[in-house]
Amino acid sequence: MSVEGVTVITVRSFVLSYISRMDRQEQNDRAEWLLGPSAKCQVVEEVDHPWRLVLLGAPGVGKGTQADLLTRRLRACHLSTGDVFRALSGRAGCDLSPAMKTALEYMRRGDLVPDSTVWDMVRERNGCLHCGGGFILDGFPRTVGQAESLRRLMVNENLELSAVINYVLPVNEIVARLSGRRTCAKCKSVYHVTELPPKVAGRCDRCDVELFQREDDRPESIKVRLEAYDRSTAPLIEFYEKLDLLMPVAASGTPEEICGRTMAALAIRRA
Ligand code: AMP
Repeated sequence: MSVEGVTVITVRSFVLSYISRMDRQEQNDRAEWLLGPSAKCQVVEEVDHPWRLVLLGAPGVGKGTQADLLTRRLRACHLSTGDVFRALSGRAGCDLSPAMKTALEYMRRGDLVPDSTVWDMVRERNGCLHCGGGFILDGFPRTVGQAESLRRLMVNENLELSAVINYVLPVNEIVARLSGRRTCAKCKSVYHVTELPPKVAGRCDRCDVELFQREDDRPESIKVRLEAYDRSTAPLIEFYEKLDLLMPVAASGTPEEICGRTMAALAIRRA
């Protein structure tokens, strides 16, 4: 059999085995990540070769949706720094540190939160990097400084990244995706008013909770976020390319198509 034939069979069996696992999987509730290290996750299952991934790409390419789909297929925990900030901003009346209050103001404007605040937040949750199911970092790192801090921490903790997936999409499609995006206030599932509508308009399919538009998905914030991406996050492409970790994946098409492309690329990486 040709080398190409072997690769195709390997990719297909890899994807099918993950799809069948997905059917019987319960999802990790990310409690330790979202609430802080004193909380304990409900489901953490060890897998033989955990994936430790970083998702890169401009805001709106669909990293959150892909992280959600990949989480179910790979059993890795979805670690989104944006979700932690949103969870904190939803805890009205709680004591927030002055640094965290400032961080939430940056977020509302669509600007990047200062590295030191983000790093404090990630570092105190570093137990999540040892998750038995692996992890999918979504929205972190976002600057070269954050990437260097992560690299040092992982070396100290004896952990290695498996790959960095860079989702690529033209700017006009990015803007259309961001402005139509809606999120479930409870489970954080992501929908789109036209591309991925819920079964009942405005309500989450999973929890029947009302969907909301993120403050930073409004037009004035979208512009700021895309500028911040070009300035601070795009340089990470070169950073991870040099470490031979970068895997570009086209982010056009349906979420399932993009996820299929990602799974195929991961299979080739591990073959
Ligand atoms: P996201 O959901 O990843 O788009 O993040 C939402 C917002 O949270 C961003 O626009 C930033 O204001 C803030 N944020 C999340 N992650 C980071 C990060 N790694 N560095 C700086 N700011 C972040």
